[in-house]
Amino acid sequence: MQNAPKKAIAMLQYPNLEQALKYHFGYDRFRPGQRQIIEDALQNRDLLVVMPTGGGKSLCFQLPALIKKGLTVVVSPLIALMQDQVEALRNNNISATFLNSSLNVYKVRSREDAILSGKIRLLYVAPERLLSERFLPFLDLVHHQVGISTFAIDEAHCVSEWGHDFRPEYRQLKSLRKRYLDVPTIALTATATDRVRSDIIQQLGLKQPSIHLASFNRQNLYYEVRAKSKQAYAELLELIRDNEGSAIIYCLTRKKVDELTFKLQNEKISALPYHAGLSDEERTQNQTRFIRDDVRVMVATIAFGMGINKPDVRLVVHFDIPRNLESYYQESGRAGRDGEASRCTLFFSFGDIKTIEWSINQKTDPQEQLIAKQQLRQVIDYAEGTDCRRTIQLGYFGERFAGNCGNCDNCRHPKPMQDWTIEAMKFLSCVARCKERFGMLHIIDVLRGSKNQKITQYEHDKLSTYGIGKDKSLEEWRMLGRSLLHQGLLEQTSDGYSVLKLNALSWQVMRRQRTVSIAVPIAQKISWEEGSEKAVEAEILLQRLRSLRKQLADEQFVPPYVVFPDSTLKVMAQVQPQTLSEFGKLSGVGSHKLAQYGKKFLAEIKAYRQEQGLLVEQQQDDSTSFVSFPSDTELVTLKLHQQGLSIAEIALKRNLSPSTIFNHLSKLIEKKQPVDLNQLVPLEHQQKIWQVLEVLGDIALTPIKEQLGESYTFDEIRLVREKWRRENRK
Ligand code: ADP
Ligand code: ZN
Repeated sequence: MQNAPKKAIAMLQYPNLEQALKYHFGYDRFRPGQRQIIEDALQNRDLLVVMPTGGGKSLCFQLPALIKKGLTVVVSPLIALMQDQVEALRNNNISATFLNSSLNVYKVRSREDAILSGKIRLLYVAPERLLSERFLPFLDLVHHQVGISTFAIDEAHCVSEWGHDFRPEYRQLKSLRKRYLDVPTIALTATATDRVRSDIIQQLGLKQPSIHLASFNRQNLYYEVRAKSKQAYAELLELIRDNEGSAIIYCLTRKKVDELTFKLQNEKISALPYHAGLSDEERTQNQTRFIRDDVRVMVATIAFGMGINKPDVRLVVHFDIPRNLESYYQESGRAGRDGEASRCTLFFSFGDIKTIEWSINQKTDPQEQLIAKQQLRQVIDYAEGTDCRRTIQLGYFGERFAGNCGNCDNCRHPKPMQDWTIEAMKFLSCVARCKERFGMLHIIDVLRGSKNQKITQYEHDKLSTYGIGKDKSLEEWRMLGRSLLHQGLLEQTSDGYSVLKLNALSWQVMRRQRTVSIAVPIAQKISWEEGSEKAVEAEILLQRLRSLRKQLADEQFVPPYVVFPDSTLKVMAQVQPQTLSEFGKLSGVGSHKLAQYGKKFLAEIKAYRQEQGLLVEQQQDDSTSFVSFPSDTELVTLKLHQQGLSIAEIALKRNLSPSTIFNHLSKLIEKKQPVDLNQLVPLEHQQKIWQVLEVLGDIALTPIKEQLGESYTFDEIRLVREKWRRENRK
């Protein structure tokens, strides 16, 4: 009953929740589930929110905190997470603060004063502080003076012994429930199991909670599995180089992390290691550099990730096999929390499986051994499976997902099934001829007619199956062998020797009572579609917007995503707004960010459009208008150019990138400075480009290049076009 007026207040302040969302956070619409949860929260109901990573849990208590009266107290287990969230909120001009052990007495005091004066909407605290003797009386005072509107318990699975991060302090949170009977509790977690869920309800004493279970399907993630062949490292490099944003590469051991980091650094890839063998300081430093986009690739053991809130990781590679499917889901799920398309690649090798099997066999507890084996089996089935990867993963969480997701390797490039009955008969009879005493490699050697010593020693070159399989490669035979094992048409001992053994089904195959089909991979070269001209140009602008974002973030010591998420930059580059009101309409631009960053980004877009010869709207306010005399740095470049230095030489001398120097020169031409084009573009090329411009007029670079062909570079065309414009403008 007492809920009704509060809801009425909410309705009064904001005609609708979407408007509140746009005003405070800049988003146009709610993610699935968010609206319903927020409505329930505004009704002061207890809530249990189960959403996968990246589902958008925080907003579910943050928006109500701004609408309801009083202070929202958020319990969060990790200091780093608290700081991140508070920074992000402050960047939306939302008054939030945190209290934890990293602060001195004076800071704590002044923050407490701010809270009591009612200036703060959200307070983040660690559970141990919340329940300390000094803090509870303070909380009483808060409740009395400004009111506590809600307790939000983040990472609520920490309360359960069945979860993976049990924290005993969480158990005591129940006492809050008793102390503040009228204050509702919202519990949030990304853990999916039933057991943990009911534990949370019970341990936190939630009262008839409204339960929201979101789907665990992460639609924006592309899942793929690749064979960890000899080319795996080259493929990894390609993945990293093709990837626009940040990447995490998981390895099984510290040693592998160090080795791989070293190799990548040698390839001039900006990478750092993260594992438990590094000092605390080094780990924190590497992590911060990763979050701030100072370094692009984090090579890590699974020690990395818990409590990393970076929403714009675009690639997660498991270079070694994960321990089980649940951890694979959580670890790969660190990609694309912001909902943007991201890639999860698993490299899978039978060598890795052998290593893991060996370590499982070292376990003394038979029960543990059994579970570990079963989990390994599930990972193998996932990796070898030809079904939709999502169907397999979600099935693991008891969620049914039927059919083709269109966003995994198996759905996008279904592996054709081929009839390999004859090959299977050859393979199995070779196992029989070798008296079921050898492993796979030896069998393949016999089939392919190898002359190695072991073959002659056992006189296997005299067998009828010797050399009958020369038409297939080692890899192909191995693929068949694995598939036979996988399909249960062949057995393998697990005594460490992996001797191949026949079973009843093998004999059925040899007697032609059963056919054998296997999925054959087709060459999986990912070809990114050639972008349209507009896409190419938007890409250039996107790079510029990214560097502006980085610069603004560094000035405030926050990660770039706090300024704007990737999705906002992308639409910005596509839409290319030219006025503040257009800018304010972009998703991710709320009232505060519009005021704080609008003009700066508009200026960048305008400068870009001018360079590209695109239409620029004349604006009233001249803060973004174009200045037509050269800047100091452009003048330095001009001087060196006049001394006869090439672009590369100037770049070297000034310790700047050639593209920057190139930009200077192009600006200088535009600003009617004496740049000698003959020094930069061969005369013949100049003439041809000029001709095309005379015929086609002032058009974009791509079609000009299409006219001219491969031997012309975009840079050349751009410079000549700049000069042509200068002469034709007047
Ligand atoms: P979780 O805690 O569930 O992992 P977060 O609360 O950190 O997820 O949200 C993940 C990302 O999604 C954040 O970058 C957040 O700003 C963004 N986000 C949340 N809600 C929306 C929305 N309605 N529209 C667009 N982006 C959103
Ligand atoms: Zn699929």
